[in-house]
Amino acid sequence: MTEQKKYLFGPVPSRRLGLSLGVDLVPFKYCPLDCVYCQLGKTTNLTIQRKEYVRAEDVLEELKQRIAQGLRADVITLSGSGEPTLNSSFGKVIEGIKKLTDIPVVVLTNATLFYDEQVRQDCAKADIVVPSLDAADNETFEKINRPEKSLTVEKLIDGLCKFRNEFTGKLWLEVFMVEGINTGKEQTQKLKEAIEKIKPDKIQLNTAVRPTAESGIERIPIERLESIAQQIGNNCQVVADYPESEQTENMLIKSEQILDMLKRRPCSLDDICAGLNIHRNHALKYIGRFENEGKIVAEIKNGKKFYKSSEHKNTP
Ligand code: SF4
Repeated sequence: MTEQKKYLFGPVPSRRLGLSLGVDLVPFKYCPLDCVYCQLGKTTNLTIQRKEYVRAEDVLEELKQRIAQGLRADVITLSGSGEPTLNSSFGKVIEGIKKLTDIPVVVLTNATLFYDEQVRQDCAKADIVVPSLDAADNETFEKINRPEKSLTVEKLIDGLCKFRNEFTGKLWLEVFMVEGINTGKEQTQKLKEAIEKIKPDKIQLNTAVRPTAESGIERIPIERLESIAQQIGNNCQVVADYPESEQTENMLIKSEQILDMLKRRPCSLDDICAGLNIHRNHALKYIGRFENEGKIVAEIKNGKKFYKSSEHKNTP
C-alpha cells in the first residue's frame, strides 16, 4: 500500500496575500539559510542541493482533488517546510497549477538560488514572487541568515537583479528586521542601495511576531519599523499583524480547537498538528499568539516541549 502524503495546507489567512493555500515542496527543514528569526526552528539540512524532494505529479493530484471538492482561495503559495526552489520540479508544479485553476500562484523564496538561470526561469512562471533580503553586506548576512558556505550576499543581490529584469509579474521584497543585527544606519543604508538596484514593486518590512529559531529575537515596535521604512524608501511598508476580525470562520474554529485540546491535556507541536490535521506553520502561528496572550504555557518534559492551557493545573 502506498503511503498517504499531504502536500497542501490551509487555506490559511495571510497578512499579505489573503486566503492562501500552501504547497509544501521540500521536507522539514531543507534550506540554504538558517535564519536566526526562522519560525520553523533551526535548519536541519543546510543545503543548496536541488532535487525532486516531492514529486510534481503527487502535488498536482492532491490539488486536483481539492479543486473538485470546491477549493476557495485567493492565492496558491509555494512555501512550507523550507525553501521551495530547492525542489527541482517546482517549475513543473507551477505549470501544472496553471492548467488546473486561474488562482494566482505565489512563490515565497529566500532567492539564494537565483544565481541559477533555471531557477529564475521557473520562478518567472508565478504571478507574484516574494523574495527575502535581510542584509546587503556579508557580515550582516552571516549573522542574520547563517548561509550555506558557498553563498554570498553579492551572489544573492546579483540573482535578484537578473530576476527583476526577466520577470514581468509582481515582485514584493521582504526584509526581516532584527534589532541589533540589521537595524543600524549603516546596514539600512546598504540595504537601501541594494534595493534601488533590484527595483521591486514593493518592499515589506517584517519583525518577529512568533517564536523564532534563536531566543531573544524581539518584536520591533511599529513606530521604529515605520521610521526604518521611511529611510528605505517610498514603496516600503511595514507588514502589520493579521487582524483577528478578518480571520475566516474555519480558522477561528481551528484556533478554538487548539485551545480545547490543550485544556484536556498537554500536547507537543506534533500532537497538535496530527490531532487537528494542520501544518506546523499554521499551528505555530496560533501557539505564538496564545503564548503572548498568556492563554497557554510551554514546558519541557524529558527534553521535549509541551504546551498546556494556563487553566491546566497539572503538569505533563
Ligand atoms: S526563514 Fe525561510 S529562508 Fe530563513 S531559515 Fe527559515 S525557511 Fe529558510
